Amino acid sequence: MSSVSRRIASISPSATLAVDAKAKALKASGVDVISFGAGEPDFPTPDAVVEAAIQACKDPVNYRYSSTSGLVEFRQAIVDKTRRDCGLGYDPSQVLVTNGAKQAIANTFATLLDPGDEVLVSSPYWTTYPESIALAGGVSVFIPTDETTNFQCSIEQLEKARTDRTKALLFVSPSNPTGSVYSKDSMEQIGKWALDNGIWVITDEIYGHLVYGQAKQHSIVSLVPGLEDQSVIINGVSKTYAMTGWRIGWMIGPKQVIQAATNLQSHETSNVANVSQRAAIAALGMDLESIEKIRNIFDQRRIKIYSMLSNIEGVSCVEPQGAFYIFPSMKNFLGKQIKGKVANTTSELCEIILNEIAVAVTPGEAFGTPGYIRFSYALGDEELVEGINRLTTLLA
Ligand code: PLP
Repeated sequence: MSSVSRRIASISPSATLAVDAKAKALKASGVDVISFGAGEPDFPTPDAVVEAAIQACKDPVNYRYSSTSGLVEFRQAIVDKTRRDCGLGYDPSQVLVTNGAKQAIANTFATLLDPGDEVLVSSPYWTTYPESIALAGGVSVFIPTDETTNFQCSIEQLEKARTDRTKALLFVSPSNPTGSVYSKDSMEQIGKWALDNGIWVITDEIYGHLVYGQAKQHSIVSLVPGLEDQSVIINGVSKTYAMTGWRIGWMIGPKQVIQAATNLQSHETSNVANVSQRAAIAALGMDLESIEKIRNIFDQRRIKIYSMLSNIEGVSCVEPQGAFYIFPSMKNFLGKQIKGKVANTTSELCEIILNEIAVAVTPGEAFGTPGYIRFSYALGDEELVEGINRLTTLLA
């Protein structure tokens, strides 16, 4: 008899974390690895946030269990932030604080899906979504997109994929892994389509502050009156405030859904660490200027990496408009000799890149889209330039 249940045995390990772990292990063994694998900012958590955590550690009020749904002050801060950034008016009872946005996603699928319920997911997708949907008994229905539509799906595609079992649409803008940002009009159309068809919208807005150039961030929920009754907003502090290790996220939605998700979480993990919640209150209290500084740094790197990758013959690139990823097509290099080796898949190509030039990147296979590679540009400027220079030489 197998020791691991079929349900859990079917989960693949996170490919993005695996690339990062391999890069870190190589680095630890003395190899000069440049990693474009990490899905986390390279900045330290802001001082004010760390200071709030230090103070919280000294206050015995934080040593005990607290409410599963989150500290009331923190939920109020989340409500205030959501009003400021999206113009949406929620009550703190509509917020559940989670261990990172990842748990908010898992909670949401577990709360909304019955076995066999279908969720529309456009691909390339962030690697966790399909696993989380499957664990909740749901079925992912993938909507393929590519660079010709800037990795965005259309109403026609959504309509074609819709069945009697379609329960929800997973919507993410800005996107990981493509950096694509939907326009206000497209968001409005998609939100209206979902509302008209009684389809839940799960909107992952974790990269909401990181949009560049002409792109503007909107919450799909704010653009379609009534959609708030059939949508769940996923967000957190991990990316904007360089707080990936603090494990703070949240979900916002109709009271009934949040209450049910809170019941679930009460048996799984209870409250999120109080010290982290207090730190996150300080993060949300920071003015938008501090976020602007981080956004500007990412923007400069985005411009740099886009121009450097576009200059490599055979690499075909869409300019990303959000998050901190770029997702070029590498199809031209498949089946060709690179340093005496031939890669037939982008997974193999990434192996060659890591082994030959010590540059870590994540293959499109991790995001359901072979033929592409994801570069995270959340690394220092000099490393970024050195890494792409190494790649340019390798692929010449
Ligand atoms: N949503 C997206 C699109 C992400 O890229 C990530 C992390 O990479 C998350 C959610 C998870 O964020 P957290 O670290 O807060 O769990």
